[in-house]
Amino acid sequence: MDMSEAKSKIQSAKRICVSTGAGISAESGVPTFRGSDGLWKNFRPEELATMDAFLRDSKLVWEWYLWRREKIKEAKPNAGHSALINLAAKVENFTLVTQNVDNLHREAGSAGVLELHGNIMRNQCMNCSHSDYDLIEDIPPHCPACGNERYRPGVVWFGESLPQDVMQKAFDASADCDVFICVGSSNIVYPAASLPQVASEEGAYLIEVNPEPTPLSEIFHASIRGTAAEILPALCE
Ligand code: NAD
Ligand code: ZN
Repeated sequence: MDMSEAKSKIQSAKRICVSTGAGISAESGVPTFRGSDGLWKNFRPEELATMDAFLRDSKLVWEWYLWRREKIKEAKPNAGHSALINLAAKVENFTLVTQNVDNLHREAGSAGVLELHGNIMRNQCMNCSHSDYDLIEDIPPHCPACGNERYRPGVVWFGESLPQDVMQKAFDASADCDVFICVGSSNIVYPAASLPQVASEEGAYLIEVNPEPTPLSEIFHASIRGTAAEILPALCE
């Protein structure tokens, strides 16, 4: 029932906004931050993913990121990521927002992804505006544009705010869509969890794809309990 209504809403929509969280990458085998396979040399992420840690010991922080990049490179996009490519091609206006840093939406072929927490494969200079996706060989690296050593991974660290321009676009797309689809997010981390609420207030039809209920489930018109790789291809066909 939920599924067939959701499909017909998607088919008649002109503007669709999709927001994804860690759950869409679960079937790609992306290791989580916090599980035991996410631990490195007994450091907790909170001790390494901060500006303080970077300023104290950038080599250590880079070693951790290069290790995480290697682990994430073993993961490949799954049928859930691919289904969103097909959906984007069918609808007049499509926005994809993600909390993930794993680069799998881009790898699947999505363009213009609004990455709220940045991208773990990106390097970014704190001195000039240079950023790239080049492989880092010598650590700590220096910015290839200006030579500064304050050259960091392009992700949002603990204590930092989200990129304002990206966040604004995500809010605008959520407020201005006919259908909002939330995939694999626990809807606990703000401000990302505000996006479905904004869409709801502005009258969009809300679809949740998640094997488990979330604290926001009741505001969704359709809550489809299943995994991203099994549900999204059927939902977006
Ligand atoms: P979360 O871990 O808090 O929640 C994941 C949600 O996905 C849960 O509600 C779970 O029920 C659901 N889920 C599990 N398997 C699923 C599947 N196969 N298909 C669909 N849904 C599934 O993730 P979050 O809401 O994204 O927030 C966690 C924070 O951790 C974010 O800030 C994010 O940046 C970060 N994070 C990112 C990655 C990544 O880049 N892949 C991985 C872990 C954590
Ligand atoms: Zn620079």
